[in-house]
Amino acid sequence: MNNSRVYNFAAGPSVLPLSVLERAGAEITNYRGCGMSVMEMSHRSKMFMDIFQETQDKLRRLMNVPEDYHILFLQTGASGQFSAIPLNLIGRTGKADYAVTGNFSGLACKEAQKYGRISLACDTVDRGHCYVPRQEGLTLDPQASYFYYCANNTIFGTEWNYVPQTGDIPLVCDMSSDILSMPVDVSRFGVIYAGAQKNMAPAGLTVVIIKDGLQGHELSCTPLMMNYKTMIDKDSMYNTPPCWCIYMLGLMLDWVDENGGVAGMEKLKWQRANMLYGTLESSRLFRLHADKDSRSGMNVTFRTGDEALDAKFVREAAQAGFVNLKGHRLTGGMRASIYNAMPVEGVEKLCDFIRTFDKAN
Ligand SMILES: *Cc1c(COP(=O)(O)O)cnc(C)c1O
Repeated sequence: MNNSRVYNFAAGPSVLPLSVLERAGAEITNYRGCGMSVMEMSHRSKMFMDIFQETQDKLRRLMNVPEDYHILFLQTGASGQFSAIPLNLIGRTGKADYAVTGNFSGLACKEAQKYGRISLACDTVDRGHCYVPRQEGLTLDPQASYFYYCANNTIFGTEWNYVPQTGDIPLVCDMSSDILSMPVDVSRFGVIYAGAQKNMAPAGLTVVIIKDGLQGHELSCTPLMMNYKTMIDKDSMYNTPPCWCIYMLGLMLDWVDENGGVAGMEKLKWQRANMLYGTLESSRLFRLHADKDSRSGMNVTFRTGDEALDAKFVREAAQAGFVNLKGHRLTGGMRASIYNAMPVEGVEKLCDFIRTFDKAN
């Protein structure tokens, strides 16, 4: 049955390791002899509280999250954080800096404008979001309550290859599409957050890692469910958390651990990405969207320049078992999302397919 699985290059929800799915499958009706599924458990039961705590501990260990940071398991998606961040953090000065390097940082910036005065640290729309500026290209407001950026631009296929220097101003980072793909010095950040459905778990869970002390300064209009202090005080259990997704994250974290941790993930990331970029660069037909020094190790965006030929590529690739390669409507062309769970072999075979298509067209 499993040899009918495809290579899934979807941007999110996206591929999960087969061994993780099989383990979830084996436990789906009867979790470790308790006679019920994780889906059926009370979130307050000892059985689930153990899953919750172990998952939090595993994430803390794998990402080396310092003791004075809280790990929250929330809902409302990464997009919910577009509102939660200004609501909770902008009160200090009423101002914030946003680096707009793609679609999601643009949406976050627009949302934040409802709650305070926003300065653009940069906006890469001038060149179709094909690059990430250097530190010298960022405009910083010394009055900003925080500096916001998105580490990996899922739609345009660019990734920050450095962490911006902002002095004492807390860094807030959307890592939805590259969390767990490399070691990160968490102590440099105020808030790191990620929707789980790209690199961590099924859709429905948002992980927030927040430095202690940043909570408790929310605007008075902050909805209860978006209040970091409420969620910290109740350890993400003010209400029912996304139990199944938290369990799945635990399985995924075991898999990351077994495969060399985040350092192992970083090696695999560039092994996959460099292979794919190399193949595309040496082709006749394909052009890459991102500037060389800004390329993403997670989402590779490319096109032929001819829409009909792009469509033919996507169609023939799908017939050959490489699915979801159509680019986002904002960029057009193709996008191969090669997250942690994409086997290197999947990219090798895609590269073979690209070479064959390149010769034949
Ligand atoms: C997918 C994505 C989002 C949106 O995530 P939702 O969970 O659907 O709200 C936000 N930021 C980045 C970087 C993403 O890749």
